[in-house]
Amino acid sequence: MSREDYCDRHTWASVGVVARHDGVGRIWECENCPVWTTETFDRAHEQAWDDTWLAER
Ligand SMILES: [Zn+2]
Repeated sequence: MSREDYCDRHTWASVGVVARHDGVGRIWECENCPVWTTETFDRAHEQAWDDTWLAER
């Protein structure tokens, strides 16, 4: 498959979350070609688990 087979505009679908050396991110891949990307979560927006109501369930 060559670059020419890639979409002009990808149809992104979320396929999961991954932890990498540079942080945590959500993996998106195109439904119509092999292209994928990682949406890196912003560390500045991370909230401590204990500070959420989730921790009290
Ligand atoms: Zn595509």
